[in-house]
Amino acid sequence: MDQSSRIANLLKHGKLRTTNARRLVLEEFLKAGHTALSSSEIEKNIEDLDRITLYRTIKTFEESGIIHQAVDVSGRSKYALCSEYCSSHQHEDHHAHFYCKKCQKTVCLDDVKIPIIQLPDNFKLEDSQLVLSGICGECE
Ligand SMILES: [Zn+2]
Ligand SMILES: [Zn+2]
Ligand SMILES: [Zn+2]
Repeated sequence: MDQSSRIANLLKHGKLRTTNARRLVLEEFLKAGHTALSSSEIEKNIEDLDRITLYRTIKTFEESGIIHQAVDVSGRSKYALCSEYCSSHQHEDHHAHFYCKKCQKTVCLDDVKIPIIQLPDNFKLEDSQLVLSGICGECE
């Protein structure tokens, strides 16, 4: 599938209209693949996109089940493309993220699931993040 049809499919999946900003931001996520991007990294790569539009686009994508949050070791928010099972109602990205100390990339480990944690009664879990760090396969 070529890039423009992948972008069209993702926007359709999120029930979103195509805009220039959305197209440009999705191109960056497709390029990054399993590597998570911070908003400042995206900002650096796309000229002529103002910060407010970028933040709004990221938020819309997250709410539409297109991208998910991948926090790195410093607690900074990064984002990566979702699996096809995510929707605007629910994200299904219950996997660990790995932060490489050498290349400083945060990658999705799709096959490493976050274990189910037993919380005390009357605690309600809304989100969980598992961040591992070390040296990634490419830097090893
Ligand atoms: Zn998701
Ligand atoms: Zn690395
Ligand atoms: Zn991920």
